Amino acid sequence: PSEVQKNQIKGKEIPGIQNIIAVASGKGGVGKSTVTANLAVTLAQMGFKVGVLDADIYGPSIPTMLNTEGSRPLSVTIDGKELMKPVENYGVKMLSIGYFSGANQAVVWRGPMASKALNQMIRDAAWGELDFLLIDLPPGTGDIHLSIIQEVPVTGAVIVSTPQHVALADVKKGIGMFTMESINIPVLGLIENMAYFTPEELPENKYYIFGRQGAQYLAEDLGIPVLGEIPLVQSLRESGDIGRPAALQENSILSNIFQKTAQNMV
Ligand code: ADP
Repeated sequence: PSEVQKNQIKGKEIPGIQNIIAVASGKGGVGKSTVTANLAVTLAQMGFKVGVLDADIYGPSIPTMLNTEGSRPLSVTIDGKELMKPVENYGVKMLSIGYFSGANQAVVWRGPMASKALNQMIRDAAWGELDFLLIDLPPGTGDIHLSIIQEVPVTGAVIVSTPQHVALADVKKGIGMFTMESINIPVLGLIENMAYFTPEELPENKYYIFGRQGAQYLAEDLGIPVLGEIPLVQSLRESGDIGRPAALQENSILSNIFQKTAQNMV
């Protein structure tokens, strides 16, 4: 990886994990988890070893989107240490805060408890060799985000946003969190989700229902690249709901878009 700074933060390295990418958003519902799940399977299809840590304590959706709902990570003993074994599907290893709350049970994770659980899922887990560990952060900015990015040697951050101005205002705050002096995590770029609507049968028709090029302007303003523009497509939502990411469908418009986005990221 050229743009991705290697995982070299002193004293915090996680052996075997090359790049840790935080996927963040200014607010909820903009498609952060959808983008994370689809990028993960795309990177795996490109031949990378990929893991996902679902850190969205408010609504962990990676188990649903990657069809591992109801799984419980087993424990394995390696070198006398008991470790959590990530669940695997579609060539992607994953751990989610969602595996540790009962089915349909609303769990309110208090900050310190959530931070501890997330830290364990990163450090006390048998991830093995990974080229990329994607962390699906909770939406917004807050203590939990800060504790993750302070404790974990994140190599780069990717911000997902819709093109709306109200969303973009929050993106600035999100970027500010990573670029704070004491944190200093490079922001690899913006991914514009729901960039335009396309009816599946008329892919050349683009309707900019949330506004046009908002992310482009913001990215230029902040001096960071736009890594990809993901359209609003009904099948992308449906494929998430049934746990079979759209990007798995080879040579489809969506898988090509995710592939281009992933290439821009690595
Ligand atoms: P977040 O992680 O930001 O809260 P999600 O990824 O859970 O957002 O997405 C919110 C909802 O919007 C989900 O139902 C998802 O399937 C849907 N969605 C996200 N991106 C798209 C898109 N580009 N086209 C269609 N539906 C989308």
